Amino acid sequence: MQSTSKAAGAREAQFALDEVQSDLRALAREISEREFRDRALGWERTGEFPWRNIKILAEHGLLGVALPEEYGGGGGTWLHAALVLEEVGRCCYTTAMAALGEVGVQTQAILKYGTEEQRRAYLPAVSAGELICAVCITEPDSGGDLAAMGTILTRSGDGFVLNGHKTLISRADVAGLFVVYTRFAGDGGDRPIGAVLVERDTPGLTVTERFDTLGGEGLYGVVFDDCPVPAGNVLVREDGFRKMLSAFNGQRCLNAAISVGIAQGAQDAAVAYAKERVAGGKLLGAHQGIRWILADNAIQIEAARLLVHRAAAEAGAGFPSRYHSSIAKTFANEMALKVTDNVVQLFGGHGWIKDVPAERYLRWARYGPLGGGTPHIQRNGLARHLLGDL
Ligand SMILES: Cc1cc2nc3c(=O)[nH]c(=O)nc-3n(C[C@H](O)[C@H](O)[C@H](O)COP(=O)(O)OP(=O)(O)OC[C@H]3O[C@@H](n4cnc5c(N)ncnc54)[C@H](O)[C@@H]3O)c2cc1C
Repeated sequence: MQSTSKAAGAREAQFALDEVQSDLRALAREISEREFRDRALGWERTGEFPWRNIKILAEHGLLGVALPEEYGGGGGTWLHAALVLEEVGRCCYTTAMAALGEVGVQTQAILKYGTEEQRRAYLPAVSAGELICAVCITEPDSGGDLAAMGTILTRSGDGFVLNGHKTLISRADVAGLFVVYTRFAGDGGDRPIGAVLVERDTPGLTVTERFDTLGGEGLYGVVFDDCPVPAGNVLVREDGFRKMLSAFNGQRCLNAAISVGIAQGAQDAAVAYAKERVAGGKLLGAHQGIRWILADNAIQIEAARLLVHRAAAEAGAGFPSRYHSSIAKTFANEMALKVTDNVVQLFGGHGWIKDVPAERYLRWARYGPLGGGTPHIQRNGLARHLLGDL
C-alpha cells in the first residue's frame, strides 16, 4: 500500500510544475498583465516593434530564460521557454512574436549547432535584449516545401557569397542578425541545405517590401545579392536538413505554447463577461448553452497545454521530437482557433468591436496554423512517421 502511494506521488510530481517553473510562470504572468496587456493593441496600430517590452523581458531574465548562464541566460529548458511564451501570448501577441526567436528558436539553433565563437558573439546580446534575430527560410516559391529552396551559398576565396530572396520574414526591420537557410552549391545529396549567420550591415543584404498583416506585425522581404559570408559564419552544413528540421521542432513547440496562451486569454475574458453580462433576463453564465461552451473551452485548453508541456519537457538539452511537437502544435493551433471563435460568439455583436477583448484573440489565433509548419505539413509528417512510409 505504501509503495503504491509512493508511486502515485511520483506520478503526480511528473505532471506538476516544480517550484522554479511555477515561480517563473507567476513572474511571466505578473509582468505580462502589468506591462503588456493594456498596450497590446497599440503596437498593432502603429506597427512599431515592441522594444520596450523586449527590454522588460530581458531585465527580468525572461528573454534568455533557456540559454545557459555563461551567455547571460537563465539556464532553463524548453519547458521554461514555453511557460514564458504562453503567459506573454495570453496578453500580447506582438510581444510574444517579437520574443519567439530570442526566447527559443533561433538562439537555440546557435547554441546547439554553432561554434563557441558564434555563441559568444551573439547569445549574450540576445539575453540582454540588445540583439534581435530573424530566421529566413520561406521564399516566394518555397514555403511548406523546404526542399524547393532556391537560395544558394557559393564558395568565394576563403569564404562564401550568398544569393537569394526570402519572404514573409518576421522582425527583419529590426533584426541585427539573420539566420539564413540556404543550399550549399556543390554539396552532394538531394537535400544539401544548411544555415549561415548574416549580420545586418553586410553588403548585399536588403530588407525590401513590408507586408501589413492580420496580426498587425510587419512581415518583410529580404534579398541577399552577392552577400559575403565568412567561413566562420556557417552555422549548419553537415547533415543540415535534419538539423534544420530539429530546430523547427523547437519552433513548433513554442508556437503551440503561444496558441495556448492566446486561447487562455480569450477564455479568461469570456468567463469575466459571462459573470457580468445580462441577456434574456439572467447572467450570460447562467444559460446552460454558455456554460457548456466555457467548459468545453477549458477541456480543450488543458489538453493542449499538457501536450505542449510534454513535447517541451521530453526535449531535455536537445530539441523536442518531431512526433510530439507536431502533435502539440497541430492540436494547440486548431484548439485556439475554435476557442477564440467560441469566445467572439459568446460576446455577441460586442465581440466584433476592437477594444473589447475578444476580437483580438481570434485574429491572434490565426497565426499559429500558418507559421512554423502548417497543420497539413504536420499531418504529412505524422502520417509518414506512422506508416514509415509504406
Ligand atoms: C505571422 C507569420 C510570420 C512568419 N514568419 C516567418 C519567418 O520569420 N521566417 C520565415 O522563413 N517564414 C515565416 N513565415 C512564413 C511561413 O513559415 C510560411 O507562410 C509557411 O511555411 C507556409 O508557406 P507558404 O505561405 O509559402 O504556403 P505554401 O507552401 O504555398 O502552402 C499553401 C497551402 O497549401 C498547403 N500545403 C502545402 N504543401 C502541402 C502538402 N504537401 N500537402 C498538403 N497541403 C500542403 C499548406 O499547408 C498551405 O495551407 C511567417 C508566416 C506568418 C503568417
